[in-house]
Amino acid sequence: MELSDGGTESLDTKNIVLATGSEVTPLPPVPVDNAAGKIVDSTGALEIASIPQTMAVVGGGVIGLEMGSVWSRLGTDVTVIEFMDRLCPSMDAEVTKKFQTILKKQGFKFQLKTKVMESRLEDDGVVLKTEASKGGKEKEAKYDVVLVATGRRPYTDGLGLEALGIQTDRLGRIEVDEHFRTAVPSIYAIGDCIDGPMLAHKAEEEGIAAVETIAGYAGHVNYDAIPGVIYTYPEVASVGKTEEELKEAGVAYNVGTFPFQANSRARANGSSEGFVKILSEKETDRMLGSHIIGPNAGEMIAEAVLAIGEFGLLEFGIFFSVFGRRQVLLYSVPLPAVPSAAATIPSSLLYPSPLYHQPLFFPQYLLLTSLRIRCQLGGHCTDLSRPSHAVRGVQGGGDGCV
Ligand SMILES: Cc1cc2nc3c(=O)[nH]c(=O)nc-3n(C[C@H](O)[C@H](O)[C@H](O)COP(=O)(O)OP(=O)(O)OC[C@H]3O[C@@H](n4cnc5c(N)ncnc54)[C@H](O)[C@@H]3O)c2cc1C
Repeated sequence: MELSDGGTESLDTKNIVLATGSEVTPLPPVPVDNAAGKIVDSTGALEIASIPQTMAVVGGGVIGLEMGSVWSRLGTDVTVIEFMDRLCPSMDAEVTKKFQTILKKQGFKFQLKTKVMESRLEDDGVVLKTEASKGGKEKEAKYDVVLVATGRRPYTDGLGLEALGIQTDRLGRIEVDEHFRTAVPSIYAIGDCIDGPMLAHKAEEEGIAAVETIAGYAGHVNYDAIPGVIYTYPEVASVGKTEEELKEAGVAYNVGTFPFQANSRARANGSSEGFVKILSEKETDRMLGSHIIGPNAGEMIAEAVLAIGEFGLLEFGIFFSVFGRRQVLLYSVPLPAVPSAAATIPSSLLYPSPLYHQPLFFPQYLLLTSLRIRCQLGGHCTDLSRPSHAVRGVQGGGDGCV
């Protein structure tokens, strides 16, 4: 290891977990220079010295819209330039349509199906040359600041992966098996530098699972139950499948939507835009996806996460929540037999990992486990002031702990 203060150091270790994260994917026509403050990425966007009058956000994904929303609420005239025909293309289309309408009302401008071809620095701003994604007439416009938010890529520089025989895929992500093991059995990788959503709580769960595996336990991550939240106003939150994904997979489903306009608390608070959408399997009514756009969506999604990932079937909720992490045992038990089966399964089998709680009496076990699940899925576990997980902490709510 090369030390930042100079010199080197060696560590002898049985196992290594690579968790080197990700970095902004460069967009060659628009080179970022955070120090100059005119063409910035998400880091530079937090350090702009004064409120710009105009800003172009290149990329209509989560980070671009979150940052754009902050500056828009501070008074900046924000234009989002997006290559695709809609915002956040991996999200449920009905939600992103509503999202765009709400942001437009707030003053956002959108240029969809548009690509940025070139940028030119001038004394009083940055000129962007754009054209339609499919090609066409070029246009030019000048902005005070340009925020590049077109994506992130795994950061694996200097790890010497090739020399070790560790493979990366075409997007540069370290290849791992279902236990987060690379081609070298004692080297594991987790988080943004491997496949999957680039989210802090996903990285954290993978880290726990990898260490459980190293310690000889059954590490497991339920990828169907990883929520995503966009911290705009209002928030957008989702977990599970989108309607488009279900259609593509040929799954028969039901859709239920409920508008906040019909919710008294939302109306009383004067924040009744948006809706909740739930997708369930047609035959069994098992929840497959939940999407919320509206006030406090980031908190409300936790209930859906419990239902989708740990409850399995809505009706059988709490038992699945309690035993969620050892669900293999449960799934083999007929549902009416769940309570009695639960009583006969040794707690050491249900919850064997010392990384979580010690075996507990049932009521405590229930309480702690569901608390843990809630925290884990809400994106911040135990200590809300920890910088990497303090999503709410960033918003000024970082005191206290769970
Ligand atoms: C603007 C922005 C907003 C985000 N908002 C959210 C959000 O609201 N919710 C959410 O869940 N996620 C969010 N994320 C994503 C979240 O930050 C990442 O998914 C998460 O940090 C990934 O964790 P990680 O441990 O894989 O990597 P990181 O947290 O990036 O940690 C990697 C660490 O490794 C260090 N490192 C790299 N290479 C080496 C090396 N060779 N030697 C030693 N150290 C090294 C890096 O310096 C870094 O500290 C956001 C990301 C960005 C950029």
